[in-house]
Amino acid sequence: MTTLADLEFDNRFTASLAADPATANRPRQAPDVAFSRVHPTPTSGPEVIAVSDEVAELLGLDQAQLASEAFRDMVSGNLVLHGMDPHAMRYGGHQFGNWAGQLGDGRAIILGELLTPDGSRQTLQLKGAGRTPYSRSADGLAVLRSSIREFLCSEAMHHLGVPTTRALSLALTGDQVMRDMLYDGHPALEPGAVVLRVAPTFIRFGNFELPASLGEADRLRELTDFTIREYFPDLVGDDGPIDAETVIAFYRRVVESTADMIVHWQRVGFVHGVMNTDNLSILGLTIDYGPYGWLEDYDPDWTPNTTDRHGRRYRFGNQPGIGQWNLAQLGNALFPLVGDAEPLQDAIDGYVDRFKAGYGDMVRSKLGLKTWDVERDEPFTIELFDLLRAAETDMTVFFRRLADVPLRSDDSTGVDRVTGLDEAFYAPELVDDELRVRWGRWLEDYAARAAGEGLDDESRRAQMNRVNPIYVMRNWLAQEAIDASTAGDHWGVTALLDVMRDPYTERPGLEHFASKRPDWARTRVGCSMLSCSS
Ligand code: AMP
Ligand code: MG
Repeated sequence: MTTLADLEFDNRFTASLAADPATANRPRQAPDVAFSRVHPTPTSGPEVIAVSDEVAELLGLDQAQLASEAFRDMVSGNLVLHGMDPHAMRYGGHQFGNWAGQLGDGRAIILGELLTPDGSRQTLQLKGAGRTPYSRSADGLAVLRSSIREFLCSEAMHHLGVPTTRALSLALTGDQVMRDMLYDGHPALEPGAVVLRVAPTFIRFGNFELPASLGEADRLRELTDFTIREYFPDLVGDDGPIDAETVIAFYRRVVESTADMIVHWQRVGFVHGVMNTDNLSILGLTIDYGPYGWLEDYDPDWTPNTTDRHGRRYRFGNQPGIGQWNLAQLGNALFPLVGDAEPLQDAIDGYVDRFKAGYGDMVRSKLGLKTWDVERDEPFTIELFDLLRAAETDMTVFFRRLADVPLRSDDSTGVDRVTGLDEAFYAPELVDDELRVRWGRWLEDYAARAAGEGLDDESRRAQMNRVNPIYVMRNWLAQEAIDASTAGDHWGVTALLDVMRDPYTERPGLEHFASKRPDWARTRVGCSMLSCSS
């Protein structure tokens, strides 16, 4: 029988980069270091609510280990295993477009880098495990509602095929945490929780920006060398030099993976909500699930984040542009290592091409088509997205219903086909005759295009249903699970985790999870409105 004591760690980040010489766990500036060692704060009544079996398997954890008291203690911050090296990373960031200086892991504590059965290393990190030197005036804790949201969404995104950090477990701490959920002067106690997150690394754009902004040239160099050697080894030989060329090649990779990640977000209707540069992963993984949301009615101007309600900087339709803006900040940070702006500019210019190509291909695949020609197809997609906006239309339901619309019809106006889409409309009364005629025309056009490619209904449907999920982490579904869990019943979390394991396959009995937003959720806090308070 194996125990957690059998786990092996290889903490390359802390072994390779500059450690904070100060050890006091109080808020402070920590100049010229990459991280500060800090232990999680023990909790009073830890209880594991949910575990992701897939992540357990990835890490090589068996049933005996998962069922142990040591596991409960490890995932809630009460046990640091031999071989772990707990620490908080130091990084900065641009928040809502403004440089914010030193931020760092204020409530995330990395336990160590685990050697997994497939030979990879996975970094284990607790979120909500207490104060660190980077907590500033905050408490280092996380509440149950936001932890449920992070746990479930990380796993849902993975199964949707979106690059993301993972989550092994969700645990209650037994402690109460004070939060003013809407920042409106109504603080209340809420149950505290911890999520154990997993990723090859949690290095963000902000890790590079901070040393660059302070002229910490050696720290910037070490971090970049480390990142390239560990996570982009094909860009250098074993001990090959890391020169300006290599740094540019590395930057190009980040440009590409970030563009690709955002194409996926637009495909599934995910709105990150806080795309600050401290929340963008150097590996192009979706990271830091805070006030994120899922598009229900298709609205590119929508953001779930009430903290951003005025500028709407991080609204759905703005995510591609913000990706580029954030990459430009990373490019600035890497400049001292390149010494020439032109190749960096060149690389960032490549973002638009990469994104456009990926986006076109993504829309093509959502429509089940085989060929795509920007000139011909752009007006066609513009009309589609205009129509989706014209009357509140559920994006997820729409693409599944579109897959079912038959291409052959006796009605040459196409209007009779529109009834096949009715389920996607939140307000059918808004879909008046004029709109139906427009939809009919669009469907005619679509049908002609698909037929021209020789597609039959069956193969088109199968292809579309592979890229258009039926189950997504709808805001109100997460809220239902949160309400139940807060009342002590964690079944909803387990059920949702299970549904999201296979988001493309329709299964009988799961109609609830595929249905569009119910009326109660339209303006409910936690569903359409979330703040950064978590
Ligand atoms: P976020 O917007 O959640 O990515 O957080 C921005 C910064 O604030 C990061 O440095 C976080 O670690 C920090 N932070 C957020 N919430 C807390 C908290 N409750 N305690 C300590 N630090 C926090
Ligand atoms: Mg963050």
